[in-house]
Amino acid sequence: MKKISRRVFNKKLSTGLFGAGALASMPFACGMGHNSSKKTSLGIALVGLGSYSTYQLAPALAQTKHCHLAGIVTGTKEKESLWASNYNIPVTNIYNYQNFDEIAKNKDIDIVYVVLPNSLHAEFSIRAAKAGKHVICEKPMAISVEECDAIIQSCEKAGVNLGIGYRLHSEPYTQEVKRFVKENTFGKINYVLAEAAYRSTGNPGQWRLNKRLSGGGALMNMGVYSIQSAIYGTGENPLSVSAQEYSTRPEYFKETDETITAQLKFPSGALGNIFTSHNANANRLYASCDSGWFALEPANNYGPLAGNSSLGPIAFEHESQQKLQMDDFASHILYGTENRAPGAMGKRDMIIVEAIYKSIAEGGSTIPLNLGNMGLVGYRP
Ligand code: NDP
Repeated sequence: MKKISRRVFNKKLSTGLFGAGALASMPFACGMGHNSSKKTSLGIALVGLGSYSTYQLAPALAQTKHCHLAGIVTGTKEKESLWASNYNIPVTNIYNYQNFDEIAKNKDIDIVYVVLPNSLHAEFSIRAAKAGKHVICEKPMAISVEECDAIIQSCEKAGVNLGIGYRLHSEPYTQEVKRFVKENTFGKINYVLAEAAYRSTGNPGQWRLNKRLSGGGALMNMGVYSIQSAIYGTGENPLSVSAQEYSTRPEYFKETDETITAQLKFPSGALGNIFTSHNANANRLYASCDSGWFALEPANNYGPLAGNSSLGPIAFEHESQQKLQMDDFASHILYGTENRAPGAMGKRDMIIVEAIYKSIAEGGSTIPLNLGNMGLVGYRP
């Protein structure tokens, strides 16, 4: 397979996945009724200035074209002055968790990006929607399907757009996998292996190991990447799932799941095998098809990703995934391009997460999923 240049890839995007590319000449197609209606770059406020905001999102926002860092929301007083001076943020655009709702009056801020521990995603996404702001909610979307529904309903009621922080949908390797699936490049897909795991050795008091704050362990944190990979690796939503849990370091993982494997059955007959863990390193998507195979490894970290296939290597220039993701979402609001990771996608994944936990609780029983085409965006025609 020939390498695909960034330029060709961009062209594909503008003519293919960005089927609404023609709309790009019509700014302000969306965001009506909001203060975004006269802008070409939207202001983002990051909520929760932890590791992801500090080391990934804020630096990426210095490179974005359709959005910029306009405000911050933090519960840590010392971060206010540090971020204000690092990123030139006026004091009027700095909020804490108590006065956050006043953001409704702030015309500099169009999008609220919720980057808090998982159990706080629903509360702040809903408060952001009520404040009339578009919402990006980090993965996992929430800690239950019920919360996902509440976020989706609040955004619909407020007439604001909702995107999930699934950055991979905006980066080229994942888009190439979707293209393989859509164009049947390797024939019928029979088997997909999707692994997303890392070995946690940090502070046992961290929120990711605290069930109240995280909602769950490896499955909530990394398992959603495996679920995502299995779905875009087949282009289908699964019909059913059965799962198993393993615990080898119970003294460290006291409240949350450490290692989970699950088998997904797809309508075409394809089988998906997913693996997620906080006690092993794995980062892989592999698909075996009637006429060959394709693989990404690494498949889901910040990149550069790498890929190979029975037709040859897959290679793209690396760009910040977070930059691409936030620009895609801003472009969706400004120009009506595709929302690559809408709320329905986050909710679908939470339905699967809940089914996996149910299967484990029932000793590995098969749990049917009634997903239809829910959350399948930009996959098959
Ligand atoms: P961190 O622990 O590094 O930061 C979380 C921040 O949330 C804290 O720094 C703090 O910010 C704020 N916070 C508010 N209440 C609490 C609380 N009770 N306990 C701890 N922190 C609190 O987490 P990450 O930045 O790594 O993750 C945040 C979210 O982003 C998670 O949902 C995670 O899944 C997601 N994420 C997504 C990634 C992706 O690739 N899409 C990668 C990494 C994370 P402050 O001091 O400003 O109040």
